[in-house]
Amino acid sequence: MFIYMFITTNMSAEIVVRSPGRVNLIGDHTDYTGGMVLPMAIDRYTTMAAQPLEAAIQLTSADQPDDLKCELPLVDPAATTPTWGRYVTGVAHQLQVTRGFSGSVSTTLPLGGGLSSSAALELSTALMLCQVNELPPPTSLELAQLCRFAEHLATGVPCGIMDQLTCASGVDGSALLIDCHSLQVSPIEIPHDVNIYVQFIAHRKLSSSAYSDRVIQCDQAEQHIGPLRLAEVSSVHNIADEILRRRAMHLVSENERVRRATVALALQDMTTFGKLMNESHKSLRDDFEVSTNQMDEAVRIAQQTPGVFGARMTGGGFGGCIVIVADSSANVDNLEGAMLVKPVSGAKLIN
Ligand code: ADP
Ligand code: MG
Repeated sequence: MFIYMFITTNMSAEIVVRSPGRVNLIGDHTDYTGGMVLPMAIDRYTTMAAQPLEAAIQLTSADQPDDLKCELPLVDPAATTPTWGRYVTGVAHQLQVTRGFSGSVSTTLPLGGGLSSSAALELSTALMLCQVNELPPPTSLELAQLCRFAEHLATGVPCGIMDQLTCASGVDGSALLIDCHSLQVSPIEIPHDVNIYVQFIAHRKLSSSAYSDRVIQCDQAEQHIGPLRLAEVSSVHNIADEILRRRAMHLVSENERVRRATVALALQDMTTFGKLMNESHKSLRDDFEVSTNQMDEAVRIAQQTPGVFGARMTGGGFGGCIVIVADSSANVDNLEGAMLVKPVSGAKLIN
């Protein structure tokens, strides 16, 4: 009781942390097989403001009706209610901390829109817990890894590291080439006369189970031809099972597209970059089967808009957003709700 009073009366300065969301320009479903991705952190943020609290977390979300109240240490984060709180308690469980916080969270990201509001919530929680527990500041990679495992705990979905690593290590003005095997992150500058838009299509449906199915299918394909990140198209043809062959074809061709798109971006060859984005969409639609009719239609309209270099679904699929890369002079008024996003730096302590 004494400790509680001491903390609540003496540590009144509010701590504020913030994490961006992300959009993936090219390279989807490649991260969990150690492949290549080219995302960027975007100027839409989750912000958490709180004060330290001994042995508990109390958090209000501006975007959810029910508050999170839990005691630390946690026994089973996957059983937390309300369910959104699992992303928070998953992080607390990973960090094994006993001091929590009391505060609020809000976001300018859509929830369940494929722009990684979940990773932004996890990263904000991790930064907050490190701060209130006076832990040494983690590196971006350490943050991303612990938040990735927190998401596994929270959702049971074996996601890759792209979302958390992008939101943690964003670079102002640049996309990030991430090798999800070596975990090397290389910023690639985005030309000033190029605009990037996201167009929200629909909240995701069936994503958890379908995502896990794809992870399993990639694993099965690897049992035939070895690591997909190293495989050649010629070896994919040796997979007898038609579904597994198509899944593997997407992975192998997508890794190659990311490599070529990175070179094109570095050379400011946006025509080639856009063509690779369009091919990526086709592959996700036909071989990996994670798009929807609504997304295909929005992508088709975007691709036909003058000044647009390329457009594709982005993220896990089954809804969410499409991403559009266009010349800054392009008129995108016909793309309903298209939102201009800028590449920004990663999650950090604000105050
Ligand atoms: P995405 O990460 O693409 O937005 P997910 O399905 O992975 O979609 O994560 C969305 C979920 O994350 C929400 O349904 C909610 O449970 C949780 N979440 C994210 N941001 C917040 C927030 N600011 N407040 C409360 N819950 C949040
Ligand atoms: Mg998410």
